[in-house]
Amino acid sequence: MDNKCPKCGEKLSLFYIKQECPKCGCDLVYYDMENRLREDGEKAEAEYAKLDEFLGKLKSKLPKRKK
Ligand SMILES: [Zn+2]
Repeated sequence: MDNKCPKCGEKLSLFYIKQECPKCGCDLVYYDMENRLREDGEKAEAEYAKLDEFLGKLKSKLPKRKK
């Protein structure tokens, strides 16, 4: 397994447990999480777009509800 800084590529020990990269000082935990969240977010967005399209089709087929 490769453990390195996602930002500057500095090699880190597998047992490096500090939160910041010793070289560039970027937040390793948060940086990685941010990337993961972004990936998840993109996937979720794609899923949501599909769902939205589906719901749009569904709605257009349903009669409008009266209040
Ligand atoms: Zn770094």
